[in-house]
Amino acid sequence: MSASLGLFRLQQVDRQIDRARTRLDVIQKTIENDSEMRSARAQHDGTNNENQRAQHGAKNAEAEVDSLRIKIEHTEASLYSGAVKNPKELQDLQRDVASLKKHLIVLEERQLEAMLLAETTSAEFDKAQSNLVLVQSRLGVENQKLVEEQAELTKQMESLIHEREAALAPIEANLLASYEDLRKQKRGVAVTEVSDDACASCGTTINASLQQHARSQKQLAYCPSCGRILFAN
Ligand SMILES: [Zn+2]
Repeated sequence: MSASLGLFRLQQVDRQIDRARTRLDVIQKTIENDSEMRSARAQHDGTNNENQRAQHGAKNAEAEVDSLRIKIEHTEASLYSGAVKNPKELQDLQRDVASLKKHLIVLEERQLEAMLLAETTSAEFDKAQSNLVLVQSRLGVENQKLVEEQAELTKQMESLIHEREAALAPIEANLLASYEDLRKQKRGVAVTEVSDDACASCGTTINASLQQHARSQKQLAYCPSCGRILFAN
């Protein structure tokens, strides 16, 4: 077996481990990051408070209008009952009714405004509520899938670690060190195949003598351009 074949096999396992690890990180972050849910819940709570305040305001405004109307009715009733005969008193009652009716217009305007606000806040609350339900059900399904994938990957990872140990066994310590260094420098690809007389990673032509060297059982040959370990069949 050439020295580079062992490293090439090891790298195949290491690449799978890298991919599984990266995916596991992404899954972990996605499950932990519930910013969408938090924002939907905040929107729900905020619009709920506003709506309750507005509904309360509308009810108060209505009660004020009702009580003023009753007061006007009572005042008019005594005005027209015939019970009050004194012209001065009658005049006072008439003045009272006029002033109460003026005030009623103001209160009715306030009531209208309060009702409009209550309608708006109620619509906003409804919207936020259905959005929250939507986000909850979607994230629930997504997270369930992610948890399953996470379990599957964790299992895969265990068997990959065993594969790695097996791949590691025939490799000499100094070759392994060279491989590990290069993996760090070359974004995970330390060993590259020679295909069509060229480095599969950078495309540089690899001459026959270098290819022969790459088949050596003891030594490693390196691509003259990208510096990776060459592996030739
Ligand atoms: Zn190269």
